[in-house]
Amino acid sequence: MTHQKKIYLEESEMPKQWYNLAPDLPTPMNPPLGPDGKPVTPEMLAPVFPMNLIEQEVSQERWIDIPEPIREILVQWRPSPLVRAYELEKALDTPAKIYYKNEGVSPAGSHKPNTAVAQAWYNKEFGIKKLTTETGAGQWGSALSFACAQLGGIECKVFMVKVSFDQKPFRKMMMETWGGKCISSPSNETQAGRDILAKYPDTPGSLGIAISEAIEEAVTDPKKETRYSLGSVLNHVMLHQTIIGLESQKQLAKVGIKNPDVVIGCCGGGSNFAGISFPYMYEKIHGANIQIIGVEPFSCPTLTKAPFIYDHGDVAKMTPLLAMNSLGHNFVPEPIHAGGLRYHGMSPLVSAALRDGLMEAQAIHQSECFEAGLLFSKTEGIIPAPETTHAIASTIREAKKAKEEGKEKVILFNFSGHGLMDLVGYNKYLNGNLHDHEYPESEIAKNLKELEDYPMPK
Ligand SMILES: *Cc1c(COP(=O)(O)O)cnc(C)c1O
Repeated sequence: MTHQKKIYLEESEMPKQWYNLAPDLPTPMNPPLGPDGKPVTPEMLAPVFPMNLIEQEVSQERWIDIPEPIREILVQWRPSPLVRAYELEKALDTPAKIYYKNEGVSPAGSHKPNTAVAQAWYNKEFGIKKLTTETGAGQWGSALSFACAQLGGIECKVFMVKVSFDQKPFRKMMMETWGGKCISSPSNETQAGRDILAKYPDTPGSLGIAISEAIEEAVTDPKKETRYSLGSVLNHVMLHQTIIGLESQKQLAKVGIKNPDVVIGCCGGGSNFAGISFPYMYEKIHGANIQIIGVEPFSCPTLTKAPFIYDHGDVAKMTPLLAMNSLGHNFVPEPIHAGGLRYHGMSPLVSAALRDGLMEAQAIHQSECFEAGLLFSKTEGIIPAPETTHAIASTIREAKKAKEEGKEKVILFNFSGHGLMDLVGYNKYLNGNLHDHEYPESEIAKNLKELEDYPMPK
């Protein structure tokens, strides 16, 4: 054999700290605001999150230690392999060197357990007995169910967006196998769910609705032993995912690469993108020349079309106002197959990075993404999640550009998860039943109009 396909780290080389981008941002973060328009205090968030995670959420420390018990669970599948996509390169006849970080090797099949384990651990430390959450495609619900099973003594209840609940029955079975409880959202179990069902009985559901249900169930626990857990968007979630990029830096160093030329990740709430890219944004802030691309679906264009505003993270306005790119909290995206990318907002940290010019954004239609997913499956062998195919489609565009320019660029992308639970989407694509959705300009304008009186972030 003439070449090395996979670059591994020893378990002892797994990072011992997470990287926090917040203190390094050129422009300081805008604080979350309460109903009175004033910054929320940690005490106001206490019914929703445990205080140890609230402290992380607002931390200005650059490096934060990963507690040893969390590392002991992560080591079940971490460090994840960095893989050179030789076969894809060959198929594209590109001079680019393509590397991907394979987060699909986790028990739940995506990057999400990186933060699920951390969040479940901090909640348990704080004495919490039950976590509620929402899930889109089912990846996050599986990840949190897995994490709660690992820790023991902590229950997990998941509100799953209806369209995915119907499309992906196996995800529910996974959650139940790990001891989690999974119900379709909107449900009749919460006031938020009942209100939506009364108004829109045929709604496909959305992450914004499911979040409202999960928060309501957490804050109404009379024993106050329930908290809510979010799989993306928030600062502490971005933090926990940086282990991905930090590992990739050590792995690239092993093959003599200081920095890639291009770093790519798909963006739903922003967490896997933040995970791979924030450590490289640190390098970029300190002078490195790295192109960093976040990729989203054309039909949910949070980064490319939405304004940077203050908006709620959920439909029932239970969350504080967050300074982020948002299509409006009432926006219900088309039921595309990349369920994990159907969120109206974007992580405030990722939105701030876009505002500060540390990254650029791309929107790609799902048909181009599925085509990219098929090429990847045939060449590299692994079937990617529909979300992940957005990063692959962008990587293919960049590799073709490198060929046109005759440049031997190093492209790194995050392989956020495998698609073995998402075969219905592939089946539709193969049978010609998958359609692209137009960017719903007028509907978004209508939703944003409702937010006109909200404060504006800097
Ligand atoms: C959830 C998910 C995403 C999108 O969420 P982010 O927070 O933006 O990472 C992307 N890929 C996979 C495989 C997912 O499960």
